[in-house]
Amino acid sequence: MTISSLRLPHPAPLCRLACFAFLLAAPVRLFSQNPVEDDLFGHVVALEGKSAAERGAYVEQTLKSYGTGYMTAPFHTVFIGRGDTLPVSGTNIVAHFGHGFRRIVVGAHYDIFPGSPGANDNASGVAVALELVHRLAALDWHCGIDVCFFDQEEVDQVGSAQYVKRFAGPAGFVTMIDVDVVGRGEELYVGPRDENGGPPVLKAFREAAATIGVPLVEGWEYPPSDFLSFINADLPAVGMAIVPKGDGERLSAFTRNQGIADPNDAPTILSIIHTPADRSMLIEPEALKRAFDILSTVLRTLDRQE
Ligand SMILES: [Zn+2]
Repeated sequence: MTISSLRLPHPAPLCRLACFAFLLAAPVRLFSQNPVEDDLFGHVVALEGKSAAERGAYVEQTLKSYGTGYMTAPFHTVFIGRGDTLPVSGTNIVAHFGHGFRRIVVGAHYDIFPGSPGANDNASGVAVALELVHRLAALDWHCGIDVCFFDQEEVDQVGSAQYVKRFAGPAGFVTMIDVDVVGRGEELYVGPRDENGGPPVLKAFREAAATIGVPLVEGWEYPPSDFLSFINADLPAVGMAIVPKGDGERLSAFTRNQGIADPNDAPTILSIIHTPADRSMLIEPEALKRAFDILSTVLRTLDRQE
């Protein structure tokens, strides 16, 4: 089912059109009656093929329609890497809900790899983060939760590093969870893990995966993403992905091998992300739902802990 047939039913009797016009005029959208996978997939379709600026505008517009408070944090910095110096600008968008001294950060980058429509990487993560705000913000929380839409992840996580520098510190910090590439597959892939079986948030992921019935692969090595900006500042953080069966182990091997894939056993997801093939036609709404269910369960577990 496409999102246009969901949102614009036809033929519509006049009275239904009048109701529809009323909803459009309302300042805050009523809580969605759609199944979560339909709303998740709708976000991916809306975001794919758009520039980072257009994607940022979509995130802001959607947060406004949910009536959730958020801030924008523009940054200008210089990235030094690989023998080159590059001025980098961007805007992080941070929605906040809940309250309390303890703080959890959920992050999903909205920028794209040049030349890719960016459906799985990372409209999928943005969709999950938006629906967390949409469906969970009104619950009773004992933690403050920052849902961050990071810019410039594809330039060595410059955007999330700016957020950490300006807004994050160890006081009350529980964990950061990075949602990147969750649009295809049946396997939950989480990492990096350390030699002590942690970080502690992994325990909540193990419980959620067992309860929901999703196979979990924990990576000792995990492909770089925004969680690194937090780990580099000694703040606990993990990345989560939903990937096709076997790709968790393959991605760990790929990372261990300094980003060089085994030609006989390359992660299948690498033939899609960062390529022109990364389109919504290859996104599985059930995979998005898996990510949403896991993440919301993990957040509720963390929120209940002292
Ligand atoms: Zn990504």
